Amino acid sequence: MTRPAPNTAPNAPVLVVGAGLSGAVLARELAEAGWPCHVIDARPHVGGNCHTARDPETGVMVHTYGPHIFHTGDAATWAYVTRFARFRRYTHRVKTTSRGAVYGLPINLHTINQFYGKTLRPTEAEAFLATQADTSITAPRNFEEQALRFVGRDLYEAFFKGYTQKQWGCAPRELPAAILQRLPLRFTYDDSYFNHPYQGMPEDGYTALTQAILAHPAIRVSLNTTYTPDLADGARHIFWTGALDGYFDYALGRLGYRTLEFERFTATGDYQGCAVMNYADADIPYTRITEHKHFAPWERHAKTTCYREYSRAAAPGDIPFYPIRLVAEQALLKRYVARAKTLENVSFIGRLGTYRYLDMDVTIREARAAAAQFLAQGGTLAPF
Ligand code: UDP
Repeated sequence: MTRPAPNTAPNAPVLVVGAGLSGAVLARELAEAGWPCHVIDARPHVGGNCHTARDPETGVMVHTYGPHIFHTGDAATWAYVTRFARFRRYTHRVKTTSRGAVYGLPINLHTINQFYGKTLRPTEAEAFLATQADTSITAPRNFEEQALRFVGRDLYEAFFKGYTQKQWGCAPRELPAAILQRLPLRFTYDDSYFNHPYQGMPEDGYTALTQAILAHPAIRVSLNTTYTPDLADGARHIFWTGALDGYFDYALGRLGYRTLEFERFTATGDYQGCAVMNYADADIPYTRITEHKHFAPWERHAKTTCYREYSRAAAPGDIPFYPIRLVAEQALLKRYVARAKTLENVSFIGRLGTYRYLDMDVTIREARAAAAQFLAQGGTLAPF
């Protein structure tokens, strides 16, 4: 894609492509510093994949593109989001169904005792698991080795192997160990999914949160608007939060993504008793069922909305969800990054713009940092 020469007039507008969290936060930071921003998004709503909307049939607030739970260890990011929306207390707990039994995740003392039919105390469980772990693996090179090293083969095969194969569409030994490092392992009965001290749900959903971030007189938002180079006419800078390879019209090939399909169904009352039930067995085709009303336990609804979630490789035109950062993608990514670095006045940020598996708090922190750097440099920024 080409674009006209940048407008170097003081405070010339900035074009932000994408009205998800990255684009909204970046635009807000620039707007507050006096830079007018034009935020465009191809979709009919803001919020990107965090988008939430009420199901017209049940009234339940649905996480349209799958569950999003805000959690962070960063007090500044928590202060930032709570400026724009009222957050309600929500502690994420996940169950998993494996071989006909239900367990708590992440693996904690209850999971271990239930799985092995034992009554171990914390230090006993730690010692016991050490006997299960494959200590011949000193530096795990992939997901499978990471699991075998830390929890051993039995727990790996019951909880991680089938789920991961379904989620990523490849053998766990082809995946980086870092994916498993997202999940804690605990020798207490604490079954909170995340370790972070700040955790919650925006009372009116993530779309309302994003709208509030964008509600500034210096920000103009155009929805249903796909990027074309003429939109950059007169702009000082472009912040691109869409897919990195998409900016270059996929000229070097496509970066791989997993996409998700959701099969919606409704029921009366409570369908599964929790927000997220994972399905660990390989012969069940979906990875998990999300029952959205449990994300808002302060609301009352007679009916319930659930999503069965299926993961598959993204084809052209599918919504990209998880970047697949295997060896081939890493090599292609390097080539796109090299191209991006040659561009002046275009910066790539966010999950799609940098092709990384980002949590919401990191997305916000990075967008704020990019804005701060842009402002500190008087309206310029290194291109990647
Ligand atoms: N995972 C698994 N079994 C589970 C839950 C997670 O094997 O029941 C693995 C899976 O490979 C997943 C990774 O752990 O991609 C990270 O899980 P997390 O819950 O962080 O994934 P998210 O829901 O955020 O995509």
